[in-house]
Order: sequence, then C-alpha cells, then structure tokens
Amino acid sequence: MELWVEEIQGKDVRLGLRLRSVLHREVSEFQEILVVDTLSYGRALLLDGTFQVTEKDEFVYHEMLTHLPLMSHPSPKRVLVIGGGDGGTIREVVRHPEVEEAILCEIDPRVTAVSREFLPEVSSGLSDPRVRVLHEDGVAYIKDHEGSFDVILIDSTDPVGPAVGLYSPEFYAACKRALREGGIVCAQSESPFVNGDVVRRVSRSVLSAFPCRTLYLAPLPTYPSGFWSFTAGSQEPLPKVVSAARAEALGTRYYTAAVHAAAFALPPFAAALVE
Ligand code: SAM
Repeated sequence: MELWVEEIQGKDVRLGLRLRSVLHREVSEFQEILVVDTLSYGRALLLDGTFQVTEKDEFVYHEMLTHLPLMSHPSPKRVLVIGGGDGGTIREVVRHPEVEEAILCEIDPRVTAVSREFLPEVSSGLSDPRVRVLHEDGVAYIKDHEGSFDVILIDSTDPVGPAVGLYSPEFYAACKRALREGGIVCAQSESPFVNGDVVRRVSRSVLSAFPCRTLYLAPLPTYPSGFWSFTAGSQEPLPKVVSAARAEALGTRYYTAAVHAAAFALPPFAAALVE
C-alpha cells in the first residue's frame, strides 16, 4: 500500500509527497506536529498539515531569509530569530563569524525538541555556544527589548493562531524599537502567487515603521506555488552589492553575492503587489 502526505494548499490544489514512513506525530499546546520520511524530499516537518521544512529544499528558504539581511549589515553582532523552531535559520545565522549572540524565540518548545530529534542537520545550529533558545511569544518578547538587535528575522508560520500578531503594524513598530542604529528586520512573507494579500499586508506593516522596504523572491518547491517571498525593513536602502569574499566564506548552497544582487530584480507581477 502506498502512503502519501498531502498539504491542502487551497480549495483545488494539493501537494502530495509519497512516504517511506511516519516518524512522529503529536499535538502540542499550539499545533499538530508531524514528521515524515518522504521518498523524494527526505524528512519533512509539517505543522497543522502545512509543510515547514523538507531536507531537500530547506536550504534555499533558510539561506535567503538569513543571508540577504545579514550580509546587508556591516557587522551583525546580535541577531534575533522569532519562530524558526526547527533551527534552520539559526544554523545559517551562526555561519556569520561577526555574530556574537543569536537568540531564538520560538513559542512552541515541542517544535524545537522534535526538530532536534528528527532533523539533526537542520537543527544543528541550535547547539552553537552563541545561541540562546527561548520559548516565548515573539509578540510579547519584542516589546521588552528596545535597542537590542542588529538583525531580526521573522521565521513564522502562516498568519493564523499565535502567528497573527507577527504580521501587524504594531509588531513592526516594536521591531524598529528593538533594533540598534542601522538595524534590519526581515520576514518570510508567503507566496506572491497565492498569498498576494499577505505579501501586501507585510509590506504595509513594514512601511508603517521603516522608510525602506525590500521585497525579494526565491524558489521553494514544497511551499504553495513553489515560489516564495521575503520582506525586509530598514532605515537605508539595502545594498545590492555585497562582498563576494564574505559571501563565499559562508559556505552556502544557494546564496551568493550574485544571487543577492539578482534578488533585487522583481518581476513586474510581484512588484505590482506592493505598489
Ligand atoms: N519556514 C516555515 C514556513 O514558512 O512555513 C516556518 C518554520 S518555523 C517551524 C515557524 C514557527 O513559528 C513554528 O514553530 C511556530 O511555533 C512559531 N511561531 C508561531 N507564532 C509564534 C509567535 N507568536 N512567537 C514565536 N514563535 C511563533
């Protein structure tokens, strides 16, 4: 008998991956957590039935969420990741030798625990001595940490449940206060094909707090439509040209200085979403 896992991505669209086995399933205080072993994408983590991470394509998402903002900052010493309990974003953050402290603020301790057990490569950065893992609501945490961070990365679930507050203008105003001079915030902002409303919402929230907003895209085979967006907020426009030597030293598989520069070229349909 064939075993499949399916994410229902809309009324008429599903993404299905054939399974070798189900490795773990539980219902935490916040969500249903499922880890499966798939034939074509390796192990996959799903929360409430939506793909969060697969071993095969996660590097694109985590590298693009992390390196574009960190490489745009001259010296990112203190970095905050909100959400991201699987650890993939933190793994990328600690590739930067300038980082002295990286804080992961994940609301659900079970996501971190399950990821450490079943996704050891993705979660490997959580054991870096510069990393502190907190299990708190990022919306509350950010309000108490004025002037504390050089970069804030929002690696959240879709705007439902506890993640709703992470998309609001009030949250981005609090992020601005939590940043040091020259700080940058960057969030995953969903699919430009199927979540144009969310792309627009994040863009508006960012622009309500920051003078500059950068929208950029990357391919993500297992996310809805296979195409994903990220939105950054900053005081000054982000640099298109970054040091190729600094980028190369990261040892990445997707991000390079050339990919960084190319990310600023927005296809017109995506640019129109935020005009
Ligand atoms: N890469 C993923 C995506 O776009 O699907 C996101 C991955 S990460 C697992 C998302 C995490 O955000 C979840 O583990 C969830 O528990 C966490 N989260 C949701 N709302 C949160 C909040 N208010 N504060 C902190 N973490 C939150």
